[in-house]
Amino acid sequence: MCVELRSVGYEGEILLIGSERHAPYNRPPLTKHGLLAAVDTNLGIDFEALGVDCSLGESALALDRERRRVQTDRREISYDTLVLATGAEPISLPGPGAQLCVRTSEDAERARMQLVPSRRVVVIGAGWIGAEIASAALTRGCHVTCLEGAAAPLASQFGEEVAARFLPWWRDVNLLTRVRVAEVVADGVILADGDKVLADVIIASVGVRPATDWLADSGLARRRGAVVVDERRRSSDPNIFAIGDCAIRWSPRYGAWMPGGHWDEAVQGAVAGAGAIVGTDVINDKIPYLWSEQFGRRLLYVGRADTADRHVVRLVDDDPEKWGVAWLDDDNHLVAHLSVNHPLAFAAARRAIEAGQPVDERKLPSLDIEL
Ligand SMILES: Cc1cc2nc3c(=O)[nH]c(=O)nc-3n(C[C@H](O)[C@H](O)[C@H](O)COP(=O)(O)OP(=O)(O)OC[C@H]3O[C@@H](n4cnc5c(N)ncnc54)[C@H](O)[C@@H]3O)c2cc1C
Repeated sequence: MCVELRSVGYEGEILLIGSERHAPYNRPPLTKHGLLAAVDTNLGIDFEALGVDCSLGESALALDRERRRVQTDRREISYDTLVLATGAEPISLPGPGAQLCVRTSEDAERARMQLVPSRRVVVIGAGWIGAEIASAALTRGCHVTCLEGAAAPLASQFGEEVAARFLPWWRDVNLLTRVRVAEVVADGVILADGDKVLADVIIASVGVRPATDWLADSGLARRRGAVVVDERRRSSDPNIFAIGDCAIRWSPRYGAWMPGGHWDEAVQGAVAGAGAIVGTDVINDKIPYLWSEQFGRRLLYVGRADTADRHVVRLVDDDPEKWGVAWLDDDNHLVAHLSVNHPLAFAAARRAIEAGQPVDERKLPSLDIEL
């Protein structure tokens, strides 16, 4: 946001405060590379050159909108415009046992130290991040069990039929599906049916919640904990913007509320918010996308599908490692696309979704053919 504000010509004072002691860094590589080796994902922003006063290790504790003041653990700060970008916090599971998560660079470092060959690692949750953690633990030579509530990894997002295509990737993981975790104990995980899964290391990856508890008394409109913003990322208070994982925005494109949770949503939020702050009217309502690296495959997903949408599996002749799925609405418009090991198909699908034209049915079965 600071970089974006300067790039659109904002010349006023900017103060950036953040709880973590590190300069801002990228989180996506933490589970893709940071569990295998120490990585530096620092964004490399020169705040001094940008003219941004950067205060790290400082946490916002309360917001007084009447007086336009933020109370931190160090001082009271006044503002003309406030941007909330406090992200999200991992959800932890009940029980007295130690459980790790991977949200910060310290978390990744802590988990990496625990991923020692032959250790019994239980990953709870086989979503995007859980899959990356399980995959890394396997690479580190651990005995990996993954506990998933749905019928297959990512089944709640893609439906069971598509999700079943991921199952072969998990063959070296003891993947237990349709299970519920009751609690984490010292030497393992107790399931809802009373069974116990023994573990040396337990890593929870069961989702996040917006880091907005400190706003509880602020009177700002929130939905499922996230700060409600419009397409310009303006909150219910015109002097306050919210971007990224702590926000939920109205999307005119989809006529739906779009939560954060993805890197590009945070980036686009900064573009829209900075534009609104300097008075250029940027309505940033791009087609969402995300990526993942798991079990040696690269996945790229663009758009927004409902499990009820019709889908077509797309293949590549002679290469079973490359495949994709196209989701279509009733008028044959492409609404979402998943590609595995095929970045060109992702780029073409994004263009097709943007174009909004009905797709030629004959092109669908081959992932090599541009839609
Ligand atoms: C391991 C991992 C892998 C990921 N992989 C992908 C991926 O492959 N693709 C993808 O699209 N997305 C991925 N994501 C999601 C993506 O990283 C997030 O969507 C993105 O980081 C959100 O940015 P943000 O600025 O909103 O929040 P964050 O990056 O969470 O930053 C928020 C910052 O605010 C600080 N903060 C919180 N509360 C306070 C407070 N009260 N006062 C001061 N500071 C506070 C936090 O400490 C944190 O430093 C991944 C996330 C993780 C954790």
